[in-house]
Amino acid sequence: MRNELNNTMKTIWILGAGATISNDRKYPSIMDFFSRGKEYFLINESSKTVRDEYEDLKNYALNYLNKNIMRKNDKIDIEYFLTHLYIEFDNSKNPEIENMINKIIGLIKKVLLESEKRAPFSTEYETLATSFLNFNTSTIITFNWDTLLDKILKSKKTPHYNYLERELSAKYLWGYTNGPKHSPYLEYPKNGELYLKLHGSIDWVTCKTSNCRLRNLMFLKEDITGEYYCSECHEVCNTLIIPPILNKQYNEYPSIKKAWNLAFKEISNSNKIIIWGYGLPPTDFYANWLFSRSTPKECEIIVINPEILTEKRNSETNEFTYSINKIFQKKFSDTFGDRKITYYRYFSDFEISKNIFEKYILK
Ligand SMILES: [Zn+2]
Repeated sequence: MRNELNNTMKTIWILGAGATISNDRKYPSIMDFFSRGKEYFLINESSKTVRDEYEDLKNYALNYLNKNIMRKNDKIDIEYFLTHLYIEFDNSKNPEIENMINKIIGLIKKVLLESEKRAPFSTEYETLATSFLNFNTSTIITFNWDTLLDKILKSKKTPHYNYLERELSAKYLWGYTNGPKHSPYLEYPKNGELYLKLHGSIDWVTCKTSNCRLRNLMFLKEDITGEYYCSECHEVCNTLIIPPILNKQYNEYPSIKKAWNLAFKEISNSNKIIIWGYGLPPTDFYANWLFSRSTPKECEIIVINPEILTEKRNSETNEFTYSINKIFQKKFSDTFGDRKITYYRYFSDFEISKNIFEKYILK
C-alpha cells in the first residue's frame, strides 16, 4: 500500500462495522440486525409471524422503542436496544429482561454467523493483513463483533491474533506457557502490534457465575455454533459482547478493561490514526472520550468512509454530483480539532492515495 510506506511510524487502525461491510455488503450495519434476522428466518416462522421466543422482544420494542422488529422500514439500532435493556435490568433486576438481553446477544451472533456463511471472501481485509506483514508497528483497535478480520490475521500469521490470544484471553493465564508476569513499568513499551476488540466479540466466551474462579475471564472459541459450559462451575457460558455507553461493564471484564487501557496508550503513542468504517456515533461517549483525550497533537488523521460524501443524481443527464456531508465531517473535526484530517471515500481510494478532493469535483 502506497500510503503505508513510512514504516518508522506507529499507525493505529480504528475499525467499525463499515469496514466489514466494505468487504462484503452481506454484513449488517448496526441498524440491520433485525431485518437480517428476518431475512434469514432467525426471528420469524414466516414473513408475518415472529417466532414465539422473540415475542417478548417484539412487544418491548413496540412499547418502548416504538418500532416493530418485523417491519423492514423500522430501523432499530441494536446497540441502542441492548443498552435500553441493560438500563432497565439495572433498575428492575427482572430476570425476563436479562433473558431478553441474552436473546439479543444470541441474535447478533447468529446474524453475523449467517452473514459469514454468505460472504466467504474479504479481499480488503486480506490486503490490509498483507500490509501488516510488510510494515511493522501497526495496532488495530476495532469496535466490531464479527470475526472476519480475526480469521485473516490468524491465517496470515501477523502478530495481532497471537497478541489477542496470548494477552487478552485467559488461555495462558496458568502454567508454564505464559512465563513469568511482568513487573509494573514506568515507561510504556510502545512497539507492540496489538489487536484490541473494544466491544467484545461473538467468539469470546465468559462465565458469569458470582464467586466462580473463572468469572468474567475471556476464552476464545473457534467453533461458536454450540453452547459452552464453564469447566469450573458448569454453568452455561455467555458471549462477551458489550454495548457502548455502559462503561461500568468495561471494568467488569479484565480483558475489556485491558483493551481500553491499551487503546489509550497505543493512541497516545501514535503518529497516524486511520479510521475505517467507524462514524464516531454520538451514543458511544466512552469512545469519543478515548479519541479526544488520547490523540497526540501532531497526529495525522485519515478517515475512510463513504458517508463523507453525499451523492445526487441528475434525473435528466443521469450524472452524479457530489458534496461533502458536513454533519459527518463535523463529528471528526469536533473530536480531532485542528489536526490534519484526510478523507477517503473507499478503502480502494486509500490504497491508491486518492482522497475525496483528488477523486471528485465537489459541489
Ligand atoms: Zn464458572
